[in-house]
Amino acid sequence: MQTTDYKGYEAVFGKEDRGKTVLIPWFTDFLSPMIPAIASLAGYTFVNCPKTSKKSADVGLMYGNNEVCYPATLVLGDLIAEIQTGRYPLDQLAVAITQTGGQCRATNYIAHIKNGLKNAGYGQIPVIAIAFGGVHNNRQPGFRLPLRKIFHAALNGLLFGDAMGTLLNASVVRERNKGDSKQVFDAYLYRAEQLIRAKQAKQLPNLLEEAVDDFNRIEVIEDRTYERIGLLGEIFVKYNSYGQAHLTQWLQDQGVEVVLPSMGSFFMQMFVNARVNARNGLEHTGWIKRAGLAGLCRYFDSKMIRFDRIMQCSRYYTAREDIAAIARDAEQVIDLSHQFGEGWLIAGEVAQFVKKGIYRVVCVQPFGCIANHVVAKGIERRLKREHPGLSLLFLDIDGGMAAVNLQNRLKFLLTD
Ligand code: SF4
Repeated sequence: MQTTDYKGYEAVFGKEDRGKTVLIPWFTDFLSPMIPAIASLAGYTFVNCPKTSKKSADVGLMYGNNEVCYPATLVLGDLIAEIQTGRYPLDQLAVAITQTGGQCRATNYIAHIKNGLKNAGYGQIPVIAIAFGGVHNNRQPGFRLPLRKIFHAALNGLLFGDAMGTLLNASVVRERNKGDSKQVFDAYLYRAEQLIRAKQAKQLPNLLEEAVDDFNRIEVIEDRTYERIGLLGEIFVKYNSYGQAHLTQWLQDQGVEVVLPSMGSFFMQMFVNARVNARNGLEHTGWIKRAGLAGLCRYFDSKMIRFDRIMQCSRYYTAREDIAAIARDAEQVIDLSHQFGEGWLIAGEVAQFVKKGIYRVVCVQPFGCIANHVVAKGIERRLKREHPGLSLLFLDIDGGMAAVNLQNRLKFLLTD
């Protein structure tokens, strides 16, 4: 793929920059702590920004274009606010962001961040795009993603983090002593990070076994029932606590168990998408690539099955379905060629919730996200027709939204 410079931004991440500190925005509590450890395997020094906060929203709005989607504002604000602390010598600093290459704005975050950095007076800081395919509009000769070095750590880390998030959400609402579940969660995330740094990521399934045992030992209040609510929507606001206005926390404080879809499915959907695009003539995939993708999909799935078997020992385990089953359910409501934003996944995840007996579902959508508006709110009527009894609440979130407004709407959902 041809790579060109974003016009007007001279800083390039060259080979001589490989030793620089690379700042990355905070994403989510169950994955972000492991990312610098994974990057260290490739020889890079990644540092997480602090957790996203009101300051991120304010700073992001100050230096960025306010017509972008809310996650883009938060990501920019995370980075600039951290640079402004003065903790890092500017000539030893770079920033990095993932580039999805899809049809939503995530592909254009690079330009947004460069523009914001220039506005804030940091136009000399190189910006790295982390992408699995080709990089679009960014020259970065000093950065290479050595998949062979990080592949197993990244995959095990993703599945481990996903499982830890599930364990935490099931346990935190039932715990007798406030803080017990979070303490176990933090301790195991720390141990996971240490294992990855020591190139022992293959031990993560064993670590998960220990974590499941420890979560099972937490003292809980059993003599009551816990309402369950499914929370889905755009990936950043769903998994980032500030991005979702701490709705998960608020619901848990009301004694509600919040169930989130697995992050693994988000990545697995690329295999279905490739198949659908080839079938529809949108991508011309040779048989070698097709066979490679099919093999990779089987490998990912076998890994997910392994982690799932461990999770079956959790006292609050609920069965998972594979991505093919999720896609089949989604297809009843929306064509699988809808692949922008969360694509058809939201329709499939709603069906998963219903199968688990969860009929109250909240869909969080960031301000400015046209992609998810189409594939979520746009199919509301069809979802309700397909799943009688479903209560579906769409919440649009942005920096100016008062949390109490969101909570009031959630109260209606809870009493519905
Ligand atoms: S899915 Fe929506 S909110 Fe997320 S990056 Fe894309 S446009 Fe922005």
